[in-house]
Amino acid sequence: MAKLNNTVQLAHGGGGKEMNRLIKEVFYRAFDNPILRQEEDAAAINLSGNCAFTTDSFTVAPHFFAGGNIGKLAIAGTVNDLAMMGAEPQYLSCSFIIEEGYPLDDLKRIATTMADELHKSATRIVCGDTKVVPKGCADGVFINTTGVGRILYPDISVKNIKSGDAIIVSGDIGRHGAAILMAREGLTLESDLVSDCANLWPVVEQLIASNVPIHAMRDATRGGLAAVLNEWASASNVSIEIEEQAVPISDEVKGLCELYGFEPHDLANEGTFVLAVPQAQAAGILEIIQRYGHCEQAAIIGYVNDSHPGKVVLKTPWGSARFIDLPQGELLPRIC
Ligand code: MG
Repeated sequence: MAKLNNTVQLAHGGGGKEMNRLIKEVFYRAFDNPILRQEEDAAAINLSGNCAFTTDSFTVAPHFFAGGNIGKLAIAGTVNDLAMMGAEPQYLSCSFIIEEGYPLDDLKRIATTMADELHKSATRIVCGDTKVVPKGCADGVFINTTGVGRILYPDISVKNIKSGDAIIVSGDIGRHGAAILMAREGLTLESDLVSDCANLWPVVEQLIASNVPIHAMRDATRGGLAAVLNEWASASNVSIEIEEQAVPISDEVKGLCELYGFEPHDLANEGTFVLAVPQAQAAGILEIIQRYGHCEQAAIIGYVNDSHPGKVVLKTPWGSARFIDLPQGELLPRIC
């Protein structure tokens, strides 16, 4: 078989020989599994009981950044949305929209990273699609992933948060948004800052196996911690009070926020989640989460009460307090 040209050509999306070769040499090689290998028009899968079902499209710019790339995001993003529903991520679909001229080596790197991220949970890509559009009609590569998984822990919901719950965040916030900002601005800052992008199923699986009570769970992606807490306060009609000092934030993220005038709690995360749990069990739950390398910074950051239903209150170390709103406008377009 002739070697592939070193960039993606329109013919690679044409449904013929070239497309067949691209799919086999890049995607089947990375994602190989018995269901995908059937090469049928649709994947035949076995689902039973209550399932969670989610979809997400990924358009991040640039495609490669400290701590990940668009492919790692495409797996982590969809797997994490299933995990946040207490569902074991089982099957994913994956569609690539590729701009003519995109380097094949980059596409292979992306596919390899996706495979590595898939292996962190027993999740398989079982169907997919490849389209190639003429130069100028897309920005390099866009990826859509859709996922289904079996719900192992039912009734996790934004409407389940109760007065007295503790709020836990699984790690220091804002690193994904800050890493994209750095990559886009060409900043290096001699910095160790990397995106938090990660597959959250292993830690969620451990929480479920430990049989701990979870009222709500959400990954703090676009809109960051501020969006999750506001969505929760509104959906459960409760007040969420956060201690500013308790929220873990790295010095690098603090520095970038000062430089650009951002609030760390508005910045996106891609491997950091927030939990609402009964206060009595919060310390034990925190201890389980902190066992995971990427969650060492996990902390209890506040509590739920009835003082200002629908509002999120940030209490400063000086005794003052202010409301945190949903982030407004588009801070950083194309972060995921
Ligand atoms: Mg989510």
